[in-house]
Amino acid sequence: MINGLSVDVEEWFQVGAFERTIARSEWDGHASRVERNCDLILGLFDDAGVKATFFTLGWVAERHPAMMRRIADAGHEIASHGWDHARVFTLGAEAFAADLKRAREAIEQASGQAATGYRAPSFSIDQRTPWAFEVLAEQGYTYSSSVAPIAHDHYGWRAAPRFAFQPMTDSDLIEVPVTTAEFAGRRLAAGGGGFFRVLPYAFSRWAIRQVNERDRRPAVFYFHPWEVDPDQPRMKNAPFKSQFRHYTNLDVMAAKLRQLLGDFVWGRMDALVAGEASRAAPLRLAA
Ligand SMILES: [Zn+2]
Repeated sequence: MINGLSVDVEEWFQVGAFERTIARSEWDGHASRVERNCDLILGLFDDAGVKATFFTLGWVAERHPAMMRRIADAGHEIASHGWDHARVFTLGAEAFAADLKRAREAIEQASGQAATGYRAPSFSIDQRTPWAFEVLAEQGYTYSSSVAPIAHDHYGWRAAPRFAFQPMTDSDLIEVPVTTAEFAGRRLAAGGGGFFRVLPYAFSRWAIRQVNERDRRPAVFYFHPWEVDPDQPRMKNAPFKSQFRHYTNLDVMAAKLRQLLGDFVWGRMDALVAGEASRAAPLRLAA
């Protein structure tokens, strides 16, 4: 069973939780750390002999074409994380289409590779965006991994299926939600992000095993370049909760990732999607 390994490529100052602290107009004034961090990640993946998918912001790809080439040349999949991290539910269908187009052009231009996968910033495809999948299909995307089927304070679509589904009957587009584990009738976030960093590694190992062995499905895991960077500048005026989530355990992240890469079989998202295509059921929402 090949689990999906993914990196959401964005700068330390482009995180959703800091949106109110750092305006988009100030982005170019901050020190870029994404190349350093992606090179560290490429080294981790190379040591473990794994390939992954890099969902990249168009804004980042445009400014770092050499990095994009290095990622593509190492055999990883290049995919889109949108243009500038605007969450899908803050855009209408037209603005979403424009965002996708601009991002894809920048990403393909920089990497020299076609990008047919998409991950919404902060898993922002949910019940508020009934038009989103249609726009993705129109724009030529073959899969999306943009849904967190869980209730969370910043994101989540609790009624969505836990595993791959077909959002539309007249399109082959597939959505592969980020991984959740079921425990005592509850869904737990188990696909990465702050949960992976803050909780002991044993929790993530247990959860991914549950998914592989009990559900018999591949897991989808994600993390960010800034999560392997304990030396990034600190956002001292951001809300305490955001700071806690962002800065806890940055220094142990690389070691945790090494364990995770060794304990399970990992691959690119497009490989996972190929395996899941025949099992993706039409979308049915839970009550
Ligand atoms: Zn992101």
